[in-house]
Amino acid sequence: MKNLFKHTSSTWVRYSSYEYRKSEDILYITPAADSLPILYDPMENYESLVLDALNLGRLATRADRADQLHTNVMKFVQKYGLLGFMTALPTTPKFMEYEQVYLPKNHFIREEVMQTEDYLHIFFPFEPPDVVKYGVQSRWNISDDKSMMALAMTLADRPMSVNLCCQRRYAEQYDWIVRMLQDWAFTFLTGFLYYLDNERMDDLTREIFQKGMSAFGGSAPTYHIELRERPTLVWDFHSLLLQIQMLFSVMLTDESSTMRCCPNCGRVFVAEYGEDGLCPECRSR
Ligand SMILES: [Zn+2]
Repeated sequence: MKNLFKHTSSTWVRYSSYEYRKSEDILYITPAADSLPILYDPMENYESLVLDALNLGRLATRADRADQLHTNVMKFVQKYGLLGFMTALPTTPKFMEYEQVYLPKNHFIREEVMQTEDYLHIFFPFEPPDVVKYGVQSRWNISDDKSMMALAMTLADRPMSVNLCCQRRYAEQYDWIVRMLQDWAFTFLTGFLYYLDNERMDDLTREIFQKGMSAFGGSAPTYHIELRERPTLVWDFHSLLLQIQMLFSVMLTDESSTMRCCPNCGRVFVAEYGEDGLCPECRSR
């Protein structure tokens, strides 16, 4: 697993603080007005990242925990940043170089094609981005915010859409984040329960599980090859979303996979090799 993603271009941005904000009755999460960007590499602690996402997704499936979910989604975003839906959904993260954005089937946007400017508006509901777009060309227009200027320069070698996702005005819908987390948790539980209950399952149930799993999947991250001391494959994770999804998929299908669901509290955790049973918290109690 570590070997597969040895080289990645995966730097992501989280802000020092975020807030909930509403526009036209839609609830968003966006960096707070005076917050500062912090660059980090999600690969460094990828296991905790995936487990945090799955456990939050489990909480999201419980209708009686809406308040707790509201608080915990915010904590997740404070820790890891927003998911980067804007670059994850289209057919290419380089959509800023086109007049239109093409969208494969997804749970969030029904249109298959959108004008790039309309698409940007979904993620910049409060203030338009600092980008002037004319036809297929676009140009940064940051003039008064030094931290945003520095950030744009730091991320200059990434597609412009990644850079935009990391700007302070960028926002994501709360319901979308929750839905994504639920999807991941559902997929994990499908993969887990299928093997746990397989012998007791009738054919119909088995088929439902298989169909549920085959519906999962998404755009894959892209990669490029760099001429370092030897040709080196570098994965381009252009959003936290695709990064979590890819890492999770690899962890789930890994032959030595040790992701388990605690039979006592339901928490998803990584077990020691060959170990079965309760999560560390329940065991220590
Ligand atoms: Zn437990």
